[in-house]
Amino acid sequence: MDKPPHGLPCNGCGKCCETILCPLAFTQYHYWQGPCPALTPTEDGKKICGLITDPELYFPARVRRWGLFKVKQATSILIGSGMGCDARVEGEPINTEFKARAIKYYETIKAEIRQAKIVWGIKN
Ligand code: SF4
Ligand code: SF4
Repeated sequence: MDKPPHGLPCNGCGKCCETILCPLAFTQYHYWQGPCPALTPTEDGKKICGLITDPELYFPARVRRWGLFKVKQATSILIGSGMGCDARVEGEPINTEFKARAIKYYETIKAEIRQAKIVWGIKN
């Protein structure tokens, strides 16, 4: 499955997480080199984030502490689920409109990001 251009809707190609872990995954696994252990293939040929779909399989202690819903929600916030494709490969140009929109959006959800980091045990 081909990767869509930067900023277009995510199609679940999985190229991002096959290549390098996201900042959330880095805080849990402590390395950057992909593929991410939580990257999960689906029956329809997509690859999705297991820390959203089944975090209890990867980090059961965190789910026991915070509950499934809160952990899934925290993952969703921290990986920017629904924002669009935020990965760029092989010199792909930046979609500046998308980048500006993302920065603006994250400014509006600072409190949610702080809470999501607490759920995942991320300091700062
Ligand atoms: S964010 Fe981009 S590279 Fe990653 S799965 Fe979605 S479309 Fe593919
Ligand atoms: S935690 Fe999810 S979004 Fe992050 S690298 Fe792993 S599969 Fe991808």
